[in-house]
Amino acid sequence: MKTKYIFVTGGVTSSLGKGILSSSLGVLLKSRGYKITIQKLDPYLNIDSGTLNPYEHGECFVTSDGYETDLDLGHYERFLDQITTHENNVTSGLIYKTVIDNEREGKYLGKTVQVIPHITNEIKRRIKILEKINNYHIIIVEIGGTVGDIEILPYIETVRQLKWELGYTNSIVIHLTLLPYILATGELKTKPTQHSVRNLMENGVQADFLVCRTEKHISNKIINKLSLFCNISPHNVIESINTKIIYDLPNLLHIQNFDKKVLKKLNLISLKKPNLNAWTNFIQQYKNPKYQITIAIVGKYVSLHDSYKSIKESLVHAGTFQKIFVNIKWINSCIIKTKNIIEIFNGISGILIAPGFGNRGIKGKILASEYARRNKIPFLGICLGMQVAMIEFARNVLKIPQADSCEINPYTKDPIIILIKNQKNIKNKGGTMRLGNLKCILKKNSKIFSIYGQEKIIERHRHRYEFNNDYLKSFATYGMQASGINPDTSLVEVIELEHHVFFIGVQFHPEYKSTVINPHPIFISFVKESKDYINKKLNTN
Ligand code: GLN
Repeated sequence: MKTKYIFVTGGVTSSLGKGILSSSLGVLLKSRGYKITIQKLDPYLNIDSGTLNPYEHGECFVTSDGYETDLDLGHYERFLDQITTHENNVTSGLIYKTVIDNEREGKYLGKTVQVIPHITNEIKRRIKILEKINNYHIIIVEIGGTVGDIEILPYIETVRQLKWELGYTNSIVIHLTLLPYILATGELKTKPTQHSVRNLMENGVQADFLVCRTEKHISNKIINKLSLFCNISPHNVIESINTKIIYDLPNLLHIQNFDKKVLKKLNLISLKKPNLNAWTNFIQQYKNPKYQITIAIVGKYVSLHDSYKSIKESLVHAGTFQKIFVNIKWINSCIIKTKNIIEIFNGISGILIAPGFGNRGIKGKILASEYARRNKIPFLGICLGMQVAMIEFARNVLKIPQADSCEINPYTKDPIIILIKNQKNIKNKGGTMRLGNLKCILKKNSKIFSIYGQEKIIERHRHRYEFNNDYLKSFATYGMQASGINPDTSLVEVIELEHHVFFIGVQFHPEYKSTVINPHPIFISFVKESKDYINKKLNTN
C-alpha cells in the first residue's frame, strides 16, 4: 500500500493541542488496523529541543535512540504505545543546517540555493524518510506553530506541493482551530477560524477537516456557517470540546465518526473493527477512583507544568491503573526552607524530586530529600533528584559536610557527583549528554528488582554527571545501596535506602517510557506505596 499522509495544522492560537489531536487520531486509525506513526515539524531554528529552556517550550522529551525532542513526541508515544525515533522530529534548524552543509559541499552544482525548492525539498525528504524506515500505512505530520506565522510558510508550501504530488486521496489536511466563546452575548465565534482557513487558502492549501476546540457544544448553525465560509463539508467539521483529561479525546472523536471520515477521504476502509475497550476502561477508572493521594513534585520550573509533562502523565497512568487519583502539589524548590518545610509537605503522600540542571533551587531539593528520608515518606528522585538525595545522605548521614556535585561546586573537596569521564572534553552543549537507551543490571533481593521483576532493564537517559564510585562503600555501609548498575561502565543507575518503604533514586528517566496502556512499574510502585503510607498515617492519627 502506498503511504498516505495526514497533515495537521493549527489556527487562531497556539496550545490548542495539535499533539493530542494527532495522537488521538493515531490511536483510532491504529485500532482500525493501520500501521501509523506521527512526525512533528517544528518551525524554530534550534537543531533540537535539547538546548531550550523548559519555560520556553515545556519539557525536552528523549527518544530511545537518544534524540532530544519536542514534548509532543511524548504524547505520540503515550497514546500509541509505540516508540518514536529522531526521524519523528524535524526542526527548521535541522533543515537549514542540512541545506547549508550541502551547499558548502558543492552539492547544488552552482545553483542559487533558495527556500523554494531547496528548503521545501529537504522538508519533503525528511517527511518521506519515515516511509522507508517502517512501511507505515499512514503518517500523521503535525506542523508546529500557527498558520499565519512567518516561520511556518515553508512547511505550508511543502504541504501544498505534497498534496498535489501525492494526489488528493493520498493526503489530507486537518486544521485545528479555536471557537472563542463570548460570555456577554453567549455565542461561539467563527470569524477567527474563517480567517485562518482563508490564510491557508492564500497559500494554496484547502483544509479537508476542521477540528474545533470549544468550551461549549457547537450547534448545526455554527457547523453550517463554518462549512460555507471554509469550503468544508459540514460532516467534516468536528467538535473537540474541552475535557477534564486528554485521554478522553480518542473516544470523543470516535463517536463523531472522525476516524471513519478520515479513512473515507483517504480512500481507505477499516481493516478491522476498532476496539477501544482499554481506553474506555482507563477513562472509567480515572473518573471513578477508589483512593486519592497527593504527590509533591519538587522542581524549579514548576510554574509551567509542561516542564514536567512526562512525569505528570506517568503519575496519571500509574494512579489510574490502580484506581488511585493522584493530585499533584507543585513545589518550587527555591521556596523550601527549614522553617516552612513541615507546612509545605503537610498531608503529602509522596515526594518526587524532578530532573534538572544547575545550582538554582538545589538547597530546597536537598531539604526535601532529607525530609522524606527522616520522615519515611515515599521518595522518588529522578536524575538530578537522585544526585541530590546522594548529596544529602553524604552530608547528614556520612557526615561529609563538603559533599557536593561538581555541577554545583566544581572545587568541592568531596565530589559525590562527578562529570562522566567521556564528557570532560565536550565543549558543545547540544546533543552531547549521555542520552537514550542504556542497559542496567538490577541487584537481586533489592526493592527495584522486585518492582521490575527482572534483572536486566533498559531505560532512557539524559545527563552529564554520575555518582562517584569511590564513595560507594561508605554509602552501602550506612544503608544506601546501589541496586542498579550499568554493566559496561559501572555507572550507578539506581540507589535505594534500607529500612524505608520506598526511597529510590534513578539516574535514568522512567517517565519517558510510561504509556496509557503500559504504566511504568516504578511509578506504579511509587504511587501504591504513597497510598499505603498516607492511609496508614491517617489511620494511626
Ligand atoms: N544535571 C544533572 C546531570 O547532568 C542531572 C540531569 C537531569 O536531571 N536530567 O547529570
